[in-house]
Amino acid sequence: MAKNITPREEDYSQWYLDVIKAAELADYAPVRGCMVIRPNGYSLWEMIQKHFDEAFKDTGHVNAYFPLLIPNSFLEKEADHVEGFAPECAVVTHAGGEELEEPLVVRPTSETVIGHMYSKWVQSWRDLPILINQWCNVMRWEKRSRLFLRTSEFLWQEGHTAHATKEEAMEETLKMLGVYRKIMEEVLALPVITGEKSEGERFPGADNTYTCEAMMTDKKALQAGTSHFLGQNFAKAFDITFQSKEGTLEYAWTTSWGVSTRLIGAIIMTHSDNDGLIVPPNVAPVKAVILPLGAEEAKVTELYEPKAQELAATLNDILGKRSVKVDTNYHMRPADRFFYHLQRGVPLRIELGEKEYSKESVRLVRRDTGERFDVSWDRAPEVVKETLEAIQANLYKRAKDFRESNTHFVESFDEFKKVLAEKGGFIKAYFAGSKEDERAIKEETMATVRCFPLDEEHARGKCFYTGKEGARLAIFAKAY
Ligand code: AMP
Repeated sequence: MAKNITPREEDYSQWYLDVIKAAELADYAPVRGCMVIRPNGYSLWEMIQKHFDEAFKDTGHVNAYFPLLIPNSFLEKEADHVEGFAPECAVVTHAGGEELEEPLVVRPTSETVIGHMYSKWVQSWRDLPILINQWCNVMRWEKRSRLFLRTSEFLWQEGHTAHATKEEAMEETLKMLGVYRKIMEEVLALPVITGEKSEGERFPGADNTYTCEAMMTDKKALQAGTSHFLGQNFAKAFDITFQSKEGTLEYAWTTSWGVSTRLIGAIIMTHSDNDGLIVPPNVAPVKAVILPLGAEEAKVTELYEPKAQELAATLNDILGKRSVKVDTNYHMRPADRFFYHLQRGVPLRIELGEKEYSKESVRLVRRDTGERFDVSWDRAPEVVKETLEAIQANLYKRAKDFRESNTHFVESFDEFKKVLAEKGGFIKAYFAGSKEDERAIKEETMATVRCFPLDEEHARGKCFYTGKEGARLAIFAKAY
């Protein structure tokens, strides 16, 4: 076990921070609540971006950029939105040595400024739909921050779409939730439950919010991404109107959806262990590292290293540019070289030492299971590819099994409290309570409604809290 990493069982939050530090993913910034994303963290973010960006483009979206500063009056145009976001806003009051006539808000999200622009761009039904995404930073003055999970400035994408009909906007909201789920599951190996948020957890200004909820290895929930059906609320606030085919003037229907650098926190808290980070191969900037090793330096540099480079070139052709590296840190002891990549979560280690060289083989060591086996040079490309796929599948399965074995169904509030205290995890229960009931449950237990799962949206039963019949199935948990 790594000495520089606090065991997970001992102190989960410290373990999380130690993993980040050991893998050099991020560091604290001079301003409270902000973070520096170091190259190892940023390359992970770039991989995440790449996969989501492709999927957005495949579903017809285009990228654009809107300004960082938003006139304060824009936020005030939508009553729920300003109420929800005003307490978290950072505001610029001075610039160029003068007090500004109107304070400018550093964007906490961009519905307002984008709504303003869409009202200019949309006149007729022919101008719809608008399907725009932007990659940017946003600022929300979080009182309690945690690296990646909740920072005052974070990186994200925000999709903003406008449609002619309610049905089309709802279809878009759910389509993007599905896109999120697919990438989270297939690329980040994060099993997620997609569902509708309760009234108390909705995005300020939305008619409905849909979410992807994941279980971390401390059994707490993490909201990994959200997709909002905004109805006509922002269209009315910003006057996004269009002439319909029939010639009438109508308000547009809008949606917005976002995922952030929080996903890096989700990867850490789903897959990593007491030795450090584990990154699923499909999102790993470096999928495998080849280490020429041996006591005789001349052999290492003249024989093993060229063979390692040759194998890396073959693998990079198969797995994608730069996804396999050769480690030439010969000044370090072999154990330290192994450890270096272990802590950084590289999915596969490939050793090439004297024994392997003489047998024309390499030794593979899996990061997820520690399993090791030899494979001939001929078969190495094929076996490396298969092993990476096996690691990806295993990480997903491990996380899903963990979630399933830590999900419990309850029928009464007493049972709810007992299960939460003794077992933790996700609690499934029929729930028909109000916003006030949600608040009371949270106050007493710290658990919140994570969502009403879409997979079971037709399930109905007796509410565990109010006793009302016909209640929907909900998932509760303590959450980040
Ligand atoms: P929202 O627009 O509020 O629904 O946010 C979109 C997504 O951004 C959420 O689902 C979170 O995953 C993520 N997010 C929200 N606040 C933060 C934060 N302070 N730091 C990092 N990620 C965040």
